[in-house]
This record gives sequence, structure tokens and C-alpha cells, in this order.
Amino acid sequence: MIDPDKVSRLTASDADPDSTADSAPRRVTVLGSTGSIGRQTLEVLRLFPDRFRVQALTCGSNIDLFVEQAREFQPSCVAVGNRERVDACRSRLADTDITVVAGPEGLCEAASQPADIVMAAIVGFAGLAPVLAAIDTGATIALANKETMVVAGALVNEALEASGSTLIPVDSEHSAIFQCLAGETMRTVEEIILTASGGPFRQRPAHTFADITREEALDHPNWDMGAKITIDSATLMNKGLEVIEARWLFDLAPEEIRVLVHPQSIVHSMVAFSDGSIKAELGVPDMKVPIQYALTYPDRWPAPYERLDWTRTASLDFETPDTDRFPCLRLAYDALKAGGTAPAVLNAANEVAVRLFLDGEISFPAIPEVIENTMEAVAGPAVSDLDELNAVDAEAREVAKELTLPAAD
Ligand code: NAD
Ligand code: MG
Repeated sequence: MIDPDKVSRLTASDADPDSTADSAPRRVTVLGSTGSIGRQTLEVLRLFPDRFRVQALTCGSNIDLFVEQAREFQPSCVAVGNRERVDACRSRLADTDITVVAGPEGLCEAASQPADIVMAAIVGFAGLAPVLAAIDTGATIALANKETMVVAGALVNEALEASGSTLIPVDSEHSAIFQCLAGETMRTVEEIILTASGGPFRQRPAHTFADITREEALDHPNWDMGAKITIDSATLMNKGLEVIEARWLFDLAPEEIRVLVHPQSIVHSMVAFSDGSIKAELGVPDMKVPIQYALTYPDRWPAPYERLDWTRTASLDFETPDTDRFPCLRLAYDALKAGGTAPAVLNAANEVAVRLFLDGEISFPAIPEVIENTMEAVAGPAVSDLDELNAVDAEAREVAKELTLPAAD
């Protein structure tokens, strides 16, 4: 959980932002460095070679890119999630001093290397254990992996409390809210407003949803992201996951989190205060901006990203989301209100359904159906540790898969 009072006490330093003499380089670990957020994180690090040092990197299976990254950034440790790819990685880095580890324990080992900041950019439930391992070291967590907060918000908050580490959101909406809260106190927050692009099917009639192809769903109007989050954006599950993420990051009730569709993605999110004031954070949609903010917080370092051109920003539109056509958003609110393990079940079923859709096994409208049916079949009280959560996740995945199998004769 983010304590805005604590956040407000941290102020940007007066040091010359171009000076490298004021402090040692920040040691950064990037979990999921071969993904969309991971690659953009490395782009940000490249802009400030004297001010950051890469400590560890992790990937799933993409060894070709990973080996290039390791050679360029020279971390002390790298982890390959997929054990079948580790020998290839090890032999291609044999002439270096880099330690290569593998599997889920390897990811946690890399996440535990001494670092100042750990960018959590693995996608899905697989990113949770490494985030918990990184929190245990006391490192600051730059959190892109929203599924971590969805499935284990309470556990993550307890771990943050215990280790004293800080979490800085990277998701553009939560980064916007975090920035709007600087200098404020939660007591005066009436509600937060998460903006959503509406995805590629914002105006598409519901009766054509069964014909939606994988390619159409992967063609997001404003953001270039990994496949899973792009499908989540098309179903509006991404916004649902973000509502749950916001609940745990900012300690808000479901009624205090509103979603508005804003097709231009210029307003990244807003906070409404008790005196009727609303603060918003705006900019060109570019994830490097919130990534850099998380890495340099509480400072802002000058960077050359595209500036908003007001002469070409003719209008900013807002509309209420349509949860009849996009039931995933409603399901996420249902899971949040149900509490316990419901958000973890929602997440597991969604990961399975999105995979099946990407593999051509189920249609687009079947995604919310699988999730809703899984939520009805698997329910439980809150869990108290990662082992119990792993069991819930595994059970929900099994049920979601069974629900999509053709009925036996
Ligand atoms: P991506 O699919 O492009 O990259 C995912 C990374 O995780 C890759 O490095 C991949 O190798 C690694 N990975 C996947 N499964 C793994 C496993 N089982 N074990 C180890 N490593 C594994 O995803 P992305 O778009 O970069 O998103 C990453 C996270 O950031 C997601 O949680 C997403 O919701 C969040 N996020 C992304 C964006 C964006 O613009 N891409 C914006 C906001 C939040
Ligand atoms: Mg987002």
C-alpha cells in the first residue's frame, strides 16, 4: 500500500539532474527484461548510463534477445524462467562472469540480488513469487506486474510493511494517481477515476463479437504492449485488474474507484478531492514516462520523450464503460466486492481464457464466460501465504480448462 503522507515527505532533490557526482549509480534489477515493459525499461536505462547499473535480469524463454541484453548491461546474475532454455543461455554466456540460474527458484534468486530498485515486469501470476523475494531484500519495487496486486494485494502489503520497502506504481493509471496524490492526504480523496482507452472494440456491435479474430484483438489503438495485456485491454479485463490493483495500492473501497472510457489516452487518470477539485496527469501515451518516473522517484530527470502537441489535441472525450458488451469489468468489481480468493480465481481463469483465445481454442465472448463460470465454481476465504495462494491458482486454472473442454458423450 502506498502511504501518500509518507510519499509527500519525500521531495525531489535539489541536485543538478545532469550531475552524476551527487550519488552512486542506482542498482536496478529488471524482472521480465525481454518483454514490452522490460525492453522499454532498458531503453530508459540506456539514456542514463552513468546513473544506473544493472544488477540482474530475468526472462521466460526468449534467449536470443536475453543474451544480447546480458552482454550489453553486464549484470552479475541472470535467470531464465524456462528450464529447457537455460543450457543454451549458459553456453552463450560462458565467456562472461555472469551467473546463470533457472526456473522459478532462479527467478527469485535473481530478484533477491542486492538492488536499489526492482522493476517487476513479468506478466501474470508467475511474477508474484519474485516480487515477494525482492520485497524481502528491502529494495524499492517499481511495479508493472498488476496481477501481483490482484491475486495477493494483502500479502504484498504485509510484506512491504515487514521489510520497509516502498512500492512505486508503473502502470500508467496508477502512476498518474500516485503523482496526483503527491502533497495530498488520503483523507481528502473522494474518488479516483481510472481512464480506459476502451480498446479496439469500443464501438463494435456486440452481435459481431463472436467473429473477432486474434489479429483484430491484438491491434490496440493507442498502446503497443505484450499479447496478454493487449487482449485484456480488448475485453476491458485490464481495467478490471487495475481497479483491484488500485484498491490495494491506495487502500480504497470499490465505490471509490470509478472507470471512465477516454479514447485518446491523454488523461492517464484523475483524483477527485472532497472540495470538488480534480487533479489529472496528462501526456502522450508512452510507458517510458511512468517507467522513468518510478526509476528516478522522487526526482524527475530530463528526457527526450515526445511532448503533447496541444494544437493537435482537438478534444478529450469521456464516456461510461459498457459492461453489457464488456462483462469482464463487471466481473472484476464482483471479485473485488466478494473478497477472499475471488480476485485470484478471476485472475487465474482470465490467464487461462486469454491463452486459449490466443491459441484459437475459444472465441472472444467465451473469455468472460469462462471467468464467470470458474468464479462460480471456485470460491474461498482469504489465504495467508504464498503456498495457499499457489493452490488456489492451480485449482482455478484446472477448473477453467475443464470448463472449456467439449462435453463428454
Ligand atoms: P510481455 O509479455 O511483453 O513480457 C513479459 C515478460 O515476462 C517477458 O520478459 C517474458 O519472458 C517474461 N515471462 C513471461 N512468463 C514468464 C514465466 N512463466 N517465467 C518467467 N518469466 C516470464 O508483457 P508486458 O506487456 O511487458 O507486461 C508485463 C507486465 O506489465 C504485465 O503484468 C502487464 O499487465 C504490465 N503492464 C504492461 C504495460 C505495457 O505497456 N506493456 C503497461 C502497464 C502494465
Ligand atoms: Mg494501465
